[in-house]
Order: sequence, then C-alpha cells, then structure tokens
Amino acid sequence: MKDTYRHKGLRKKLIDSLKVRGVKNEEILEVMNTIPRHFFLEKAFEEWAYQDKAFPIDCNQTISQPYTVAFQTMLLEVKQREKIMEIGTGSGYQASVLAALGARVYSIERQEPLYKKAKKFLPLIGFPNIRLFFRDGYKGLAEFAPFDKILVTAGATKVPELLKQQLKIGGIMVIPVGPDKVQEMLKITRISETKFKTVSYGDFKFVPFAEGVNR
Ligand code: SAH
Repeated sequence: MKDTYRHKGLRKKLIDSLKVRGVKNEEILEVMNTIPRHFFLEKAFEEWAYQDKAFPIDCNQTISQPYTVAFQTMLLEVKQREKIMEIGTGSGYQASVLAALGARVYSIERQEPLYKKAKKFLPLIGFPNIRLFFRDGYKGLAEFAPFDKILVTAGATKVPELLKQQLKIGGIMVIPVGPDKVQEMLKITRISETKFKTVSYGDFKFVPFAEGVNR
C-alpha cells in the first residue's frame, strides 16, 4: 500500500470539494486529508477513492460517501478520549476517522468477511486500538455501555430502543432512519434517564441496517 503524491493531491482536491459543500469543521477535514481512503478499496478501484461517492465493498455493502462520513462525524461532536460505538464497520474507514480524532472506538459488523478483513487491515495502517466485534449491532455492546456517542452507518427503519439505553446522559446518537431506501439523518441527544431530543438533518442513502449476523 502506497500513498503517493498523486494520491495526496487527489485527496486534497476531495477535501476542498467537501469544504465547498459546506463541511466547516477543520479538524475533521484535516483528519480526512491524512487518511488514505484508497487503502480501503481494492487496488483496481483506487481511482474511485477520491471521488465524493459511496463505493461497493465486499458482501454487497458500501464504503460511505466522504461527504456523509464528514457530516455524520460533525453531528457526533467528537472529543478526545470519548467512547464511541459505531454500528457497521464496513471498510473501517469511518472508524479510522473517529480514531484519528482521538476517540476510543468500538465498531460492530454483522458480515463476518468484512469483520475479518478490518481486523487484519486496521492495525496494518496504524489503527491497532479500534476494537472490532462480529455481532448484531441491534444489540449494541451492553458490556461496554454506556457510550458518549453512538454512530449508526446503516439505514434503520426505526431507532432501536436497546441502543438508546446504551447512551450516556448527555450523549449523542447519530442514526439514519427511514421506511424505505432514503433515510433522514437524526441526531438524538439523551437529556435524562427518560428524555431524548431529536433533530433531523435531511435525507441520505444507506445500505440497510439488517438483523442477525451473516457468516
Ligand atoms: N462505516 C462503514 C460503512 C459501511 S456500510 C465504512 O466506513 O465503510 C454499513 C455497514 O453496516 C455494512 O457493512 C453492513 O454489513 C453493516 N450492518 C448492517 N446492519 C448491521 C447490524 N445489525 N450490525 C452490524 N453491522 C451492520
């Protein structure tokens, strides 16, 4: 895996385009400018890594579009050392962005091949501390709860109650929710033991948040 001047140049262009689209958070842009997104795609598709598009990975899943990664990360308001649970490891790119921002990342994947690949690959590119789990994300990670933040990177039909319960009071969950192929990006803040505040941030498209695991 090489990160050449050409890759760096393409990446800088992508980051500039995210700025134009309204991503204002310099820290997020800087982190995305340092992580070689092409490492997360098959070599044959390197060229595609620096377009602002989702792209197919194994198991019929996708690596989220860079704009979506930046947007979800921004809504999470990540701070150093925070404990963050991500549902949907996929390529591991979003998890790397969170880790590079200084978060302690716990990421769950339901597709075993993707889990195995990320487990091997993330330490190789400098993220040995991301904790990965092969599980059904609907259940969250009760033994590590509560979390400061929860990020769902697959499209849900409703907000899973179990996940809400694994959020700290004052914590934030970002989850795309919708009945069909389009989801509304929700930012849910846990105000108290029983109260949650929800704000919607417009439409996005994700692969489905599916139940159970797939070996
Ligand atoms: N964050 C990923 C995006 C991957 S797409 C990245 O940066 O590449 C969403 C992922 O969520 C897919 O890999 C899919 O298999 C996974 N997923 C869907 N339902 C899930 C569930 N119940 N538990 C865990 N992962 C799930």
